[in-house]
Amino acid sequence: MPVIPDTIFALASASGRAGVAVIRISGPKSTKVLQELTGKKLPVPRMASLRHLKNADGIKLDEALVFWFVGPKSFSGEDMVELHTHGSTAVIEAVSNTLYDLGLRQAEPGEFTRRAFENGKLDLTEAEGLADLIDAESEGQRKQALRQMEGGLKHVYEGWRSKILDALAMVEGEIDFPDEGDVPEELAHRAVADLTELSEALKEALAKSDRGERVRSGLDIAIIGAPNVGKSSIINRLARRDAAIVSDEAGTTRDIVEVQMHISGIPVRVSDTAGLRETENLIEAEGVRRARLRAQDADLCLGVIDLSSDNSEVLDTLTVGDFALYNKADLGDVKIPKNVSRETFLLSATTGSGFDELEDALEQEIKSRFSLTEQAGLTRSRHVECVRSALSALENTLANLSIAPELAGADLRVALHAIKELAGESDIEAVLDRVFTQFCIGK
Ligand code: GDP
Repeated sequence: MPVIPDTIFALASASGRAGVAVIRISGPKSTKVLQELTGKKLPVPRMASLRHLKNADGIKLDEALVFWFVGPKSFSGEDMVELHTHGSTAVIEAVSNTLYDLGLRQAEPGEFTRRAFENGKLDLTEAEGLADLIDAESEGQRKQALRQMEGGLKHVYEGWRSKILDALAMVEGEIDFPDEGDVPEELAHRAVADLTELSEALKEALAKSDRGERVRSGLDIAIIGAPNVGKSSIINRLARRDAAIVSDEAGTTRDIVEVQMHISGIPVRVSDTAGLRETENLIEAEGVRRARLRAQDADLCLGVIDLSSDNSEVLDTLTVGDFALYNKADLGDVKIPKNVSRETFLLSATTGSGFDELEDALEQEIKSRFSLTEQAGLTRSRHVECVRSALSALENTLANLSIAPELAGADLRVALHAIKELAGESDIEAVLDRVFTQFCIGK
């Protein structure tokens, strides 16, 4: 016998004092609960209606806009109700208590979306896009998440799936009817060209996945250099506030100071690190060790050199794509040395000169290396894992096709399974739990 789901409710708007609060209800008792709260007359489905909400004793709780959604034409696919009440803690508490009295329970994080997924309203990649859209803080994140929520990635993998199915039909045709005249002997080999093309498409998606993941998780930029070259002053200018302590005492920045900003629609963490130098001081030495690690892990390093003294060792730490910043240009007639192998900038953190050029170049660099592409792509390591296993199964298929089509068929099924995992169809509880618990309550 199918299990009847609980009817759940949650505050879908943020908690705290606000003009309006949205309380969502989903499950088989939703309609009855709405009638209990508002009297018997149900509103027209999907239309806003103004109603008094009352508890079981007939005490008025609030005047609210109510919406009634009849499943499956609702977000979760079940019968749903939305109450737009006044946004005070007291109203929310009074309505919640009444809902508890009516036998409802508070929803778990992501439970509405999980029900939508289980009722076939969206696939796992679309649910992930929705989670990302709720978390989006930058323009790039918003665009990428919206595209994924609207089925961008689903569209891509459905194309892959149909190509695998076509190939499977050809391969199994050869196995099942090896002697029939209308199934040409070399039929399976016709699949080779299509599968080669498909493998290339998967490889391309994997190659671009770093962009998608970076848009979600953000980029790291590390500012490195000897003590006193002006690293803290530079981060403060970039952040347009005093994030790091500026001091002419060498070794002041011992731990890493991070500033969050958005460049080209991508969240960026810029970190000011301890000045790189040999030191006897244990705490400072630990700072230097962390600075070196941060520089290694960063997506981009800004190596700072003080034009008024000789400290260009930092150039040895920089790699291709990193920037060399020659600071303190205000101190008289200074020039960048010739033949520096990195892109160079002449700056003054004191006067601000050179910062427009630096910021433009950072934007260009980030855009060209990490910004969004036009097509939907892989945005999570979960996607990358699934596509990697699909690709390796396809490579096995191609290798086996000429030797043993039976094996190629099995490989194709492995590839198909990987696509199913990407879609969330393979029903792996642990994966589903991980995705849905990342949501806030009420979604
Ligand atoms: P850090 O140790 O590399 O983080 O360097 P700070 O930002 O703390 O700066 C060290 C000293 O250099 C401070 O006295 C700053 O005021 C000074 N300084 C930083 N940038 C400039 C600059 O562009 N021009 C001048 N004249 N002094 C600067």
